Amino acid sequence: MTPAPIQRILIVGGGTAGWMTAAALAHVLRGTVKIELVESEAIGTVGVGEATIPPILLFNALLGIDEDEFVRETQATYKLGIQFRDWFRKGHEYFHPFGHYGTRVDAAPFHQYWLRLNQAGLDDSLDDYSVTTVAARMGRFARPERDPRSILSQMTHAFHFDASLYARFLRQRAEAAGVVRHEGRIADVRLRDNGFIDAVVLDDQRTLSADFFIDCSGFRGLLIEGALKTGYEDWTHWLPCDRAVAMPCARVQDPTPYTRSTALEAGWQWRIPLQHRTGNGYVYCSEHISDDEAVQRLRSGLDAPAMADPNFLRFTTGRRNKTWNRNCLAIGLSAGFLEPLESTSIHLIQTGITKLLLSFPDTGFAQPDIDTYNRLMQLEFERVRDFVVLHYHATERDDAPLWRQVAAMDIPDTLQAKMDQFRSRGRVFRFDDELFQEASWVAVLLGQGVRPERPDPITEVVPLEVTRRHLHGLRIAIRQGVERMPTHEDFIAAHCKAP
Ligand code: FAD
Repeated sequence: MTPAPIQRILIVGGGTAGWMTAAALAHVLRGTVKIELVESEAIGTVGVGEATIPPILLFNALLGIDEDEFVRETQATYKLGIQFRDWFRKGHEYFHPFGHYGTRVDAAPFHQYWLRLNQAGLDDSLDDYSVTTVAARMGRFARPERDPRSILSQMTHAFHFDASLYARFLRQRAEAAGVVRHEGRIADVRLRDNGFIDAVVLDDQRTLSADFFIDCSGFRGLLIEGALKTGYEDWTHWLPCDRAVAMPCARVQDPTPYTRSTALEAGWQWRIPLQHRTGNGYVYCSEHISDDEAVQRLRSGLDAPAMADPNFLRFTTGRRNKTWNRNCLAIGLSAGFLEPLESTSIHLIQTGITKLLLSFPDTGFAQPDIDTYNRLMQLEFERVRDFVVLHYHATERDDAPLWRQVAAMDIPDTLQAKMDQFRSRGRVFRFDDELFQEASWVAVLLGQGVRPERPDPITEVVPLEVTRRHLHGLRIAIRQGVERMPTHEDFIAAHCKAP
């Protein structure tokens, strides 16, 4: 007998994960499947999650979202990368930009030629060859130019936005595309004899049944863990921070086109500029600082007095053993959590959705599809984990117990191999279509003080003087190109404000 087609999907949860999933599925499936969403206003959402990375543009494009409207409706600003302060050592700062460094010189990647010059004592900062870093430091912004010969075609951006406005924006689109929303608190989950989920039962005894359940219920993982007991792989030994406190404050200056991350004694502080306020938070390790001390520390580092009470969050870094189990798929915090140091959670939601669309279960649930999905999501999480762990491990800081602990810890073999290869010849190899590009690894490896012993020997094929001239011209072209851009503030005012 052919299994029955998937006709009804129930999304449990209406945070960023729930509404991103609802909007995307409704848009792509075009009414062929009934999509419902249940959420509880009384429980609410985590209410944070405001910085993104460039693939968000693909998600918005998939949904046909106009960028100017999106920036206007979510009070967004543009993001060109992340400034890291005090991570390698106190008083030190580096920038992790979006996009690439430089342009092609010859056979090796650009940073290798820069390394060669740098080690010959002939040049200075790699930042000068990243158009996004130069623009970020000068407070400028423009979208990429279409002409691939222009250095400004290398502009690459993402956004900072207000998470609650983003959820509202997506909800409007999802409901307009036919998603039915239910308000209520789920009190029970009913299973079938074969262990599949049959229905959820609300407080008021309403029952919502479906063929396929998407668990977007946040950290609690109501279906994937609460009902199906899928299990969780704990990564706290690599990423010991387990709490955060968030507190927005008033905006006191033009918004910077970048996120700032400042390493503190027991974790780190984020600063995310929006049009109408600045988002701030302290991600910390409860073993080394109390909640009260964390709030005080955060307050002392704000641009302006806090606009709201502290929002405390607790988490265990890691991932669900399987993100897809039987007829339940976990997306968002229910699938796992990595601290927001590289703004990857919303991306992991997005990739969870796009991978689902690639193996969408039309009739029944094929185990090979489910296994492949789980393997792909496992790799996504693990590669991002390695990148985040790098920031902690490669540090000279030894002024506090947290920093001594992370500098001394054993790290995943996959990360160790990356660090060893970079330390030797400045090489970066990526596997399995991993998220972070070569330039990201180079920025953070160098920023965290991992210096190659020598550049790739293949760079020696090009005479030093030729390389020097090439880089010199490029640096000037980038500088002049960025000087032609409007300020970030002016760009938003010209393109994205209400008419
Ligand atoms: P939630 O927002 O928790 O939503 C859960 C939903 O489930 C809610 O609607 C709730 O009402 C519903 N629900 C739960 N239980 C029930 C029930 N019993 N009955 C009915 N409904 C229920 N990500 C980034 O990409 N960039 C960042 O800068 C970033 N910063 C972060 C900072 C911190 C401190 C934290 C903790 C996370 C951050 N994230 C960031 C992650 C980001 O916030 C989340 O990935 C995103 O908000 C998705 O959350 P969610 O929708 O999975 O869960």
